Amino acid sequence: MLGATGSIGTSTLDVIARHPERYRIHALTAHRSREPLLALCLVHRPAVAVLGDERDAAWLRSHLSEAGVATEVESGPAALVAVAEAGDVDVVMSAIVGAAGLLPTLAAVHAGKRVLLANKEALVMSGALFMEAVARSGATLLPIDSEHNAIYQCLPLEHRGGLGRHGVTQLLLTASGGPFRGWSPTALAEVTPDQACAHPNWSMGRKISVDSATLMNKGLELIEACWLFDARPEQVQVVVHPQSVIHSMAAYSDGSVIAQLGNPDMRTPIAYGLGWPDRIDAGVAALDLFQVARLDFEPPDEVAFPCLRLAREAMAAGGTSPAVLNAANEVAVAAFLDGRLSFTGIADLVARVLDTESLQSVCDLEAVLEADVRARRAASDWLAGH
Ligand code: NAD
Ligand code: MG
Repeated sequence: MLGATGSIGTSTLDVIARHPERYRIHALTAHRSREPLLALCLVHRPAVAVLGDERDAAWLRSHLSEAGVATEVESGPAALVAVAEAGDVDVVMSAIVGAAGLLPTLAAVHAGKRVLLANKEALVMSGALFMEAVARSGATLLPIDSEHNAIYQCLPLEHRGGLGRHGVTQLLLTASGGPFRGWSPTALAEVTPDQACAHPNWSMGRKISVDSATLMNKGLELIEACWLFDARPEQVQVVVHPQSVIHSMAAYSDGSVIAQLGNPDMRTPIAYGLGWPDRIDAGVAALDLFQVARLDFEPPDEVAFPCLRLAREAMAAGGTSPAVLNAANEVAVAAFLDGRLSFTGIADLVARVLDTESLQSVCDLEAVLEADVRARRAASDWLAGH
C-alpha cells in the first residue's frame, strides 16, 4: 500500500478489512503522517512500514517496539521502491499523490506485479515508457481512477491494440464539473483553498480536490485514458455529468454506448482491482435509481476552466509536455493551497511554463525526470518574481 494514510489508502484498507481471508498486507507507506501510520500499523501489523524521513521513522520504530509490534520501519524513496518490488508481494496499490509516486509505481510494474493505479500523475508523466514497461514485464495494470475503471469495465476484456480494432469509436469521460461549475472567471479569481477542497460528490485528498475544481484533474485523466486505452486525444470526449453516477462510457461503431454506474464511492473501483477477475463486496450501498431520479449532461466550459484544454494540447504535443504540465500544476496547486497564488493563477502559471519550456522527446526516464525538475524550477521562479 503506497500512500496508505491518504483518501485512497483509507478506502483500500476498508475494503481489505472486509476480506481478511483474501489479503495480508506486506507494507504500509506514508510521507509525513507518522501518527496515522502508527495507528494503521497497530491494526494491520504489516511486515514493513515506510515514512519520508529517518527522524519520523525512528519515532515510529520506537512506538511500535513499545507496543510489541514486529514491523520493520524504513525511510526514503529507495525504501518505497524496495517494498513495491518485494518478492512476496502480488498486488501493489499505487496511491501516493503526485510525481513522488512515479519511481515506486514503475518499480512495481518492472517487477511484474498486479498494479492498482490510482496515482495518475505517474502515468501522465511517463506515458509511453510506463506502458512499454507494462507490456515487457507482463504486469497487470488495473485502473483505479473511477472513470478509467469504468471504461475498463465497458471495454472487451482483451482491449489492447487500439480502440478501432474492437469497434470502439469514442471514450466518454464523465466529469462532475467540480464545486465551481457555472461560475464566471471573475468569481473564480476569488476562490479560497477551503472552497476548492469541498467537492460536491467525492471526498478526496487536497491536491486532487483542487485539480477537480480547476478541471486539471479531467485533463490529467484525458491523458491517462489515452495511454491506458491506446486512444488519441480526439477520441476522448469529456462530458460534464453533475450527479457522478455514470463513471464513464465507451461508444461503439454500431451505436451502442456502454456505461458503468454506481454511487460515487472509490471503494467500488478499489474492490474491482483487488478482487479482479472476481467481484468482491466493497461495502458500497446499492445504487437507488429512484433516488438518483435524473442524469444530466453538459459540455465542459473550457473558457472558465482552461486547464482541460492545456492538458489536451500537452498530450497532442507529446514528448515531455505532459510531464511539464504535471510538474507546473503540482507547484501551482501547492502555491494556491499556501495562499501564494490565486485559483485562476493555477492555469495561468501552467500555461506560462508550457510556453517557456522547450519540448523534448522522451527516450528514457532521465528525460522525464529532467523535464519535471526544470518545469518545477521555472514555475517556482515565476512565483518568486510575483
Ligand atoms: P491523499 O493526499 O489523501 O494521500 C496521499 C498519500 O500519499 C498519503 O498517504 C501521503 O502520506 C502519501 N504521500 C504524499 N506525498 C508523498 C511523497 N512525497 N512521498 C511518499 N508518499 C507521499 O491523496 P489521495 O486523494 O488518496 O490521492 C492519491 C492518488 O490517487 C492521487 O494521485 C490522486 O490523483 C489519485 N486518485 C484519488 C482519488 C480519490 O478519490 N481520492 C480518485 C482517483 C484518483
Ligand atoms: Mg477520477
